[in-house]
Amino acid sequence: MVKDAFHGRALRVAVIGSGPAGFYTAEELLRLDIRAEVDLYERLFAPYGLVRYGVAPDHQKTKLVTKRYDKLANEEGFRFIGNVEIGVDINFSTLREHYDAIVVTSGTESGGALGIPGEDRQHSHHAFEFVNWYNGHPDHQHHRFNLQTHTAVIVGNGNVAIDVARILAKSEEELRDTDIPKSVLSMLTASKIKEIRVVGRRGPVQASFTPKELKELGELAECSTWIAPEELDLNAASEAELNDGDIRTRGIVDLFNGFANAPGNGKNLRLQFHRSPIEITESGVRLVKNALQGEAGAQRAEATADVENLDAGLIISCIGYRAKTIEGLPFNDQRGVLLNDAGKVETGIYTAGWIKRGPSGLIGNNKKCAAESVKTLRTELEVLPPCPKPFRPEINKRTISYADWKRLDAEETAQGSPRKKVLSLEEAIEILDR
Ligand code: NAP
Repeated sequence: MVKDAFHGRALRVAVIGSGPAGFYTAEELLRLDIRAEVDLYERLFAPYGLVRYGVAPDHQKTKLVTKRYDKLANEEGFRFIGNVEIGVDINFSTLREHYDAIVVTSGTESGGALGIPGEDRQHSHHAFEFVNWYNGHPDHQHHRFNLQTHTAVIVGNGNVAIDVARILAKSEEELRDTDIPKSVLSMLTASKIKEIRVVGRRGPVQASFTPKELKELGELAECSTWIAPEELDLNAASEAELNDGDIRTRGIVDLFNGFANAPGNGKNLRLQFHRSPIEITESGVRLVKNALQGEAGAQRAEATADVENLDAGLIISCIGYRAKTIEGLPFNDQRGVLLNDAGKVETGIYTAGWIKRGPSGLIGNNKKCAAESVKTLRTELEVLPPCPKPFRPEINKRTISYADWKRLDAEETAQGSPRKKVLSLEEAIEILDR
């Protein structure tokens, strides 16, 4: 039997950020052995964070996880409060006065920088902009990407680089059954890009791809993925890493070997290793060739004297994301995470998701991460003072409830495939006021 055990009433918790970590945190809180009331705050009008705006639009099955979040949203004790930005619409310190505990799950808000000359040139972008743009994020619809160029260079060897390359490589037909906004879809399908290069600073064994995602690059309808065979030569330390490595590493190297070939006649996606961008130039990018140094398992890319200039009208760096701190909370600027111990920032303030542990892992990893943080919170209930002010602060602006969101969702779904994503707050409010 769940009890009202926190000072004779339910525990009042605000969760900031409605991506997967926010929903899993709310779920863990509602499964506690004492009754909890959870308010899930979201800056945007739509929930789901990374699932809506980060997961690639051609990975619709992955996005089905939102069904689970919808179920949770119907549970007693859960409330979604959209269109409220903490620190802008309401201060964090005010929020603290109205809740017993706060869990920050606001994820990442920008991309890591390459830190090289020319990075701010018009044809140079971070994946954060491009991914949010093709996923219809309301803050990112103003970006313009040069898709009328022959060559695009994607920097980084993680799954985000694969997503970006795949979206650029897919044909109109392959992109049709997605939730890419129509305006974006028409720009992507008018693309003139014929060559996509994915460039890693280290070697094939050190790439962070996962086999399932890499395999998709070999299944593109109108684009050939290839690697020059000599790119797959390994030094002794990389051989050792491969032999001692996990199934994932073996899996991706096997896939690379399958791609070792010559380019096709049409559109090509080329994987290259051991290269780092050192300058974004007027006509493209200057790359330096790297040699791997160090012991197996800890090899670093060291620049050689070998430099090449590549003509490219679009450069997208996919080198990780960064969180934005909340004023007053301790932040590790280098790692871009809130300082925390098993999710505890300080008594009464906790964190989960990418702002807690950094930008890595799949959606499901956030469940374990949220469970750890809520467990930490649970152990502190004896020492947690009840909030001094009444439950829920007043918010003097139009907020979005979950029922509002479901109306917007129904409107998007009704538009069929591709779904017409609601792209702005004004559009959302216009629909809700009809
Ligand atoms: P990631 O997996 O950490 O990959 C980042 C890549 O950027 C690495 O190859 C890294 O190389 C490289 N890099 C970092 N700094 C660099 C620099 N200054 N110059 C050149 N290269 C640099 O990160 P991610 O791709 O952003 O993905 C984030 C998380 O989301 C990952 O866990 C990923 O698996 C997950 N994700 C999953 C999916 C999916 O399942 N479909 C899709 C997207 C993302 P080094 O290794 O040398 O540092």
